[in-house]
Amino acid sequence: MQNKILKVALIGNPNVGKTSVFNQLTGLNQQVGNYPGITVEKKQGYSKLSENVKAKIIDLPGTYSLNASSIDENVVIELLLNKNDEDFPDVAVVVSEVENLKRNLLLFTQIKDLEIPTILVINMADRMQLKGIELDIPVLEQQLKTKIALISSRKKTGIDTLKELILNYEDLPTEPCLNASGIDPEYFDKLRKAFPNQLLYKLWLVITQDVNFLNLERNEIKSSFTKSHSELKRLQQKETIKRYQFINDTLKLGQKIDLTKATDLRARLDRILTHKIFGYVIFFGILLLIFQSIFDWSSVPMDFIDELFANLSSFAKTHLPPGEFTDLISEGLIPGIGGIVIFIPQIAFLFLFISILEESGYMSRVVFLMDKIMRKFGLSGKSIVPLISGTACAIPAIMGTRNIENWKERLITILVTPFTTCSARLPVYAILIALIIPEKRVLGFLNLQGLTLMGLYLAGFGMAILSAYILNKILKLNCKSYFVVEMPSYKIPLFRNVAINVVEKTKSFVTGAGKIILALSVILWFLGSHGPKESFDNAEAIVNAKHQDKSSSELEDEINSYKLENSYIGIAGKMIEPVIRPLGYDWKIGVAVVSSFAAREVFVGTLATIYSVGSHSDEEVTIKNRMAAEVNPVTGNKIFNFASGISLLLFYAFAMQCISTLAIVKKETNSWKWPVIQLVFMSGFAYVIALIAYQALK
Ligand code: GDP
Repeated sequence: MQNKILKVALIGNPNVGKTSVFNQLTGLNQQVGNYPGITVEKKQGYSKLSENVKAKIIDLPGTYSLNASSIDENVVIELLLNKNDEDFPDVAVVVSEVENLKRNLLLFTQIKDLEIPTILVINMADRMQLKGIELDIPVLEQQLKTKIALISSRKKTGIDTLKELILNYEDLPTEPCLNASGIDPEYFDKLRKAFPNQLLYKLWLVITQDVNFLNLERNEIKSSFTKSHSELKRLQQKETIKRYQFINDTLKLGQKIDLTKATDLRARLDRILTHKIFGYVIFFGILLLIFQSIFDWSSVPMDFIDELFANLSSFAKTHLPPGEFTDLISEGLIPGIGGIVIFIPQIAFLFLFISILEESGYMSRVVFLMDKIMRKFGLSGKSIVPLISGTACAIPAIMGTRNIENWKERLITILVTPFTTCSARLPVYAILIALIIPEKRVLGFLNLQGLTLMGLYLAGFGMAILSAYILNKILKLNCKSYFVVEMPSYKIPLFRNVAINVVEKTKSFVTGAGKIILALSVILWFLGSHGPKESFDNAEAIVNAKHQDKSSSELEDEINSYKLENSYIGIAGKMIEPVIRPLGYDWKIGVAVVSSFAAREVFVGTLATIYSVGSHSDEEVTIKNRMAAEVNPVTGNKIFNFASGISLLLFYAFAMQCISTLAIVKKETNSWKWPVIQLVFMSGFAYVIALIAYQALK
């Protein structure tokens, strides 16, 4: 028998182990050169298939598809389209690997449609057990109309099967996988009529790619069948979608991935972390740990900061010449800045934890775990990230919904995200909890205040989910969605990345919300220390005339509180008092609630300013002490008691109180309709809940 040399093209995505397969086939029989005129490396070698048949193996550059975007990829198409090339293959061997079959098969189906005899190599078979992957090779062969060699170039198995298949290449079916004309039947019909002797898919590639094909005809095909660039792109996308549909259907029949059977560490971790029960238990446990730590760890720096700014304020007051300017500094600016700085520890700790979860790869498991549940509520697994990062601020969270492909899911996520407790609510919660919840431990180790905080976070989250459910039912939008989540491997978080994230988030809080807080603090100080002419300016004379029997320090108290009541702010607060009295709030709280519509964190600052204006006694310098000492002048009861405290906490948990968030929702939904609905619904709901809570508890 005559010596025969078969030409074999080795094709595949990068990193599938193509080089390893090439080495297995050729051993040391390799030559490395360049393709003429370009710097792309050309590797070829010989493999002995039988006594008198050899194969010349051409290792083509790694490529993801035949939609060429680089000269490397062009090399592949030009060879496969040019029957006259001396290297034009008798048989194409497409190398794929078990873990990324879906992606790898895109290229395979394209090569197959060129109707060249094609063999599919599925490499890295040694990883199948590790990953819990089972393949039904006969079914796959039938679906893909090809012969498959399942090999492991690492374990050196299956190579002989591959050689055998190459040797018998003439038995391979050359039927295409996809009917190209399905992309645009009318257009392909015309193509077919114009070039009856050419393969449609080849013509299509020539039209879409800048490659040489039967040099004579190329220009002819192009000029008579030109389409606009965007139209071609659209059709190419259509082609890709059709191919993936075909691949999905094929893999459904011929591939089984059972994570419970996978044996590598990552698979075992995945199995636990995304487990139907343990997955949630672990996630919940981690959340509990985070909130406990935020409360426990940040109380020390927060007390320190609180004290520091109180001291600074009294220092300024005693050492600067008395007057308007000193008041501005000691009662407006210093407490205002203190009101920003004090949140830094909590925000920093929260982001420390969130970025560790993200960096370690755990967050993606949470997304995966949550998808099943979230879908029931009209959300996507991806909504969990905005909902969780909404714990920092709704603004970046709402911007972060952009990666949710489905518009309805995205809109719902945008609408419900403000229910999650943002960092601006944290100080309000923190101070109210410190006032009304005793500093006790339950079950030996759980801090009761921490538990309350967690309860509020859960209430916000629960409300978000519930509203999503309702919105999903009432919103009439029809959008289909596919869920693809990339599971990154587990990593020890890089300190640098975590640190940068913490610094960035804290900085954006200070420069974003901080500016508003400071400006409002100063404005509120002004409104609190100035009033309409007569009653305000004559405060001393009026109070003196009324209370001639009192001591001078008592008189000063009276004057201060009279002044506050008659300041601009007092007048505004009193105006809304009838509306908020049923919730257990007085006009001072009313002022704080109103001013916190600009930004919730202003609440504490406002109260601080109000009380520092209204009080002069030096023992009561911290905000918390001032609030705790506040009594109703009529009943003598404490203003911040359990009932009014809970009512306020709930009001803040549900109300839409952030102009910046409304602005971002308008921007992202491109309509005022949605922010207005949010404002009315959320604040109305908050009012009703706070009302019920106060009336039930008082
Ligand atoms: P190419 O980019 O397609 O040429 O891929 P390479 O041959 O360079 O291989 C990519 C990576 O996959 C390397 O780290 C190889 O060690 C690994 N690899 C190749 N074949 C196998 C195999 O059969 N099993 C396993 N587990 N790894 C393999």
